[in-house]
This record gives sequence, C-alpha cells and structure tokens, in this order.
Amino acid sequence: MTAWVKAYVGLGSNLDDPEAQIRRGYAALARLRECRDPHASGLYLSRPFGGVEQPDYINAVASIETGLSPEVLLAALQDIERRQHRTREVHWGPRTLDLDILLYGDKIVNRPDLVIPHPGLAQRDFVLYPLCEIAPEIVIPGLGPVGDCLKSCANRGLERLDREPLSAARDDEGAVSGET
Ligand code: ATP
Ligand code: CA
Ligand code: CA
Repeated sequence: MTAWVKAYVGLGSNLDDPEAQIRRGYAALARLRECRDPHASGLYLSRPFGGVEQPDYINAVASIETGLSPEVLLAALQDIERRQHRTREVHWGPRTLDLDILLYGDKIVNRPDLVIPHPGLAQRDFVLYPLCEIAPEIVIPGLGPVGDCLKSCANRGLERLDREPLSAARDDEGAVSGET
C-alpha cells in the first residue's frame, strides 16, 4: 500500500510569461504519478533577491500528497523544470521555472543534493506567505509554526495578485515520463 506523505513545493518564474509557466508547472505537478489531492496558493509578485539584475518573479506554493520518496520527487520536479526549458547559467539568476521541495511531511533531509525543509524557507517572504495561505497551522520541522516564521521574516514588497486560481487541469502538453 502506498504511504502518502503531504509535500509542499515552491514554484517560481521570471522568464517567458511567468504566470503561464507557473500554471503549466502546477498542472504538471498535479499530474505526477503517485501524487494526489493537489492544492495551490494564489499567485504572488516578488522582487528578485541575490543581487542579480533580473525581472520580478511570480511565485506560488502547492501541496500534494505523494507516494514518491523525496529523492524521486526531486527528480520528477527537475524533469518538469527541464521540460519548461529551465537552464542554470547564473546562481539565483532568471529562470522559466523553479520547483523546490519546501517540506516533505515532517521529514528532515540533509544530503548534498537535497535539504528539507528547504534551507531558504525562513528568510523568504515569497515562500512563507503562500505557504501560510494554504497551511496556516503547519509547524515547520526545526523552525516552528509557520505564523511565527512569518512574523520574523522581512516583507520585501511581496504582492498577492488578483488572478484566476491555479488549476490542476490546465496543461497544454501531453503526458510524458514521470506523469500518469
Ligand atoms: P535555492 O535552492 O536557494 O532556492 P535555486 O532554486 O536557484 O536556489 P537550483 O539551481 O534550482 O537552486 O538548484 C540547485 C540544487 O539544489 C539542485 O540541483 C538540488 O539538488 C538542490 N536542492 C537541495 N535541496 C533542495 C530542495 N529542497 N528542493 C529542490 N532542490 C534542492
Ligand atoms: Ca529556489
Ligand atoms: Ca531550485
């Protein structure tokens, strides 16, 4: 029997129609094999961080129940990024789609290629606000209640956009490997 774990995924984009990228990315996430019950926050506009001159970002947070291990889920997310033409030229540089595993149940992972909870979580308004929107009661392993994290995180001008909610059904691509 599948052991279902609730995972939270951060989505971000600032290239090639970021809103459409996030919509496609969420639809692909919702269709991954061994994933069910997808939910998503609203869309947020955030200022880039990390010192690279680049366009503003659209961000959101999604939750899924998954039977995939954290490692397999990461590989599946990277597969979705690749299909949306993600490239890595500059650290924290512009990207069509970034999918980060924020939380995987209450599991703590510390591997060279995978750290959960995501290490940037506590400092990032564009993660904490949408996470709090869909999981206001969540307690982040090692950090505490999301509401407390929010109070100690600087808001860098994050804006919640008044847009149509993300839909799990919208995707203009056919099913490919990694999806059901
Ligand atoms: P940041 O991780 O600070 O948000 P980024 O998303 O721009 O930066 P990427 O270039 O997308 O960084 O990813 C670099 C590496 O981070 C990936 O190859 C992956 O192995 C690793 N990584 C570690 N922990 C996670 C995680 N929780 N979710 C996604 N990737 C992770
Ligand atoms: Ca990221
Ligand atoms: Ca990433």
